[in-house]
Parts: sequence; structure tokens; C-alpha cells
Amino acid sequence: MKEATTMNTPMVLAQGVRKSFGAHEVLKGIDLEVGNGQVMCFLGPSGSGKSTFLRCMNRLETIDAGRIRVGGELVGYKEKNGRLHHLTEAEQARQRRDIGMVFQRFNLFAHMSALENVMEAPLRVLKRPKAEVRERAQAALERVGLTGHERKYPAQLSGGQQQRVAIARALAMEPKLMLFDEPTSALDPELVGEVLDVMRGLASTGMTMIVVTHEMEFAKDVGDELVFMDGGLIVERGTPREVLENPRHERTQRFLRATS
Ligand code: ADP
Ligand code: MG
Repeated sequence: MKEATTMNTPMVLAQGVRKSFGAHEVLKGIDLEVGNGQVMCFLGPSGSGKSTFLRCMNRLETIDAGRIRVGGELVGYKEKNGRLHHLTEAEQARQRRDIGMVFQRFNLFAHMSALENVMEAPLRVLKRPKAEVRERAQAALERVGLTGHERKYPAQLSGGQQQRVAIARALAMEPKLMLFDEPTSALDPELVGEVLDVMRGLASTGMTMIVVTHEMEFAKDVGDELVFMDGGLIVERGTPREVLENPRHERTQRFLRATS
């Protein structure tokens, strides 16, 4: 809950997070702290565990060891008398609402207009009155620069516009943390900028954001910190400029050479 989050409580605190799929250990002990209002960028080769870590944060995956706190609350558990208890389905759903997620593929409902896509979760999950939900959905679409496109269907929108609808859809739930998993990787190059601009604007309003991206310029401009992940571990972290321009670790250097 927002009240419980003071400036001193990090928005995200992950400690010793481990996750395996069968015999394959994908996360090998991740420690991460993301301050309130910070933008944390994630970089790393395909298969290094970036998406899995993001999915653990809103419990689309359960973790095998360690703990994750978002806004001071333990993800997936509650503490009572010094012991951990699983959250109920309802408690889990409530917790998940605080975390907005934007994926590489926008996954909009094709048979719903932009406005209906943004209204869907607040209507179904928050069960708020329709007039109020519509007003908030319109405000969310305005935040992503799509006023005037409310009645269009996904097929009538460009990829960049569709991704902006997906961002508005996440914002309509009033999350306290936004996770972006390669949000521009599926877009034609000329459409990348408009999505990054929306994310830049969101960051400037103080939204806490974790962004998996290979957009180095965006990371340098907007990121407060950048972590480089490889083989299920955070290999290096620092300001984006430090890590991108002066990587200390050999694996980071090799990755940056290969992608530049
Ligand atoms: P990244 O996002 O950095 O490319 P992922 O987190 O998607 O990496 O994947 C890390 C590793 O975990 C990969 O080897 C991937 O095949 C594996 N993996 C991810 N999800 C699953 C799953 N549901 N079942 C089995 N293996 C998975
Ligand atoms: Mg991924």
C-alpha cells in the first residue's frame, strides 16, 4: 500500500532469489534494491533470466529461495507471528494489482476498442462504476498521447500506438511499480521513439520502473541505474553511463562489443 512506502523503504527489495525450471537453475541468487521513483534498467544476453526475474516480481512465477518485497510487502506471503503464510488467491490478486507489466507483445483484445481495452481490468477486477472507470481510462490514454484514438480497434493502430494502449491499460490500475519487458523489441524502428517518449514521461512523474531494454540511449537518459545480467546472476551494476561506457566485468565488455 502506498501509505506504507516511505522514502526510506525501497520499492523493490530482492534478496537471494533463486528459481529453477526442472534441473535448470535460471536465477542463481539475485539481490536487487530499487528505490522509490527510480528507473532501473536491465541488460543481458537472451536466456540470462531477465524475464523470469520480472515474472517472479509479480508472482507469475514462484521462487524457490530468497524473498522479494514490493513496497515493503513480501510478494506471495504474509508474516504472522514471525512465520510465513501463503497469501490467499484474493490477497495475491490484490498484491498483483500494484504492479503493472508491459510485454514485448502487447496482447490487446482484438475485438475491443482502445478505450475498452484500458477499461477492462478496472471494470472486472476493481469493480468500480463504469462512468468512473471510463474517465480514468480516458486520462490514462491521454497520458500516453492517444486522445482521439479511443474508439479505434488494435488493427487500426500502429504497433507503437498499440504498445501505448498496453501502457495505458497498466496505468489504469494505478500501479506503484511498472515492469517493462523489452517493450520496444517487437516494433519497427520508426515506432520505437514514441513508446520510449511515453516511458520517459512516465519516469518524470516519479513512477518506479524496471525496464528490460537494449535501448542504450534510453538507459543512459532515463535510467538511474543499470544492471547487467548473465547466467542467472547480476554481474555488474552502476549508473548506465558507468556500465555502458566503462564496464568492469569481462562478460559485460564482451556483450557490449557484440551488440554495438
Ligand atoms: P531472458 O528474458 O533473459 O532472455 P528468460 O528469463 O526468458 O531469459 O529465460 C531464462 C532461461 O529460463 C532460458 O533458458 C529459458 O529457456 C528458461 N525458461 C524460462 N521460462 C521457462 C519455463 N516456463 N519453463 C522452462 N524453462 C524456462
Ligand atoms: Mg526475456
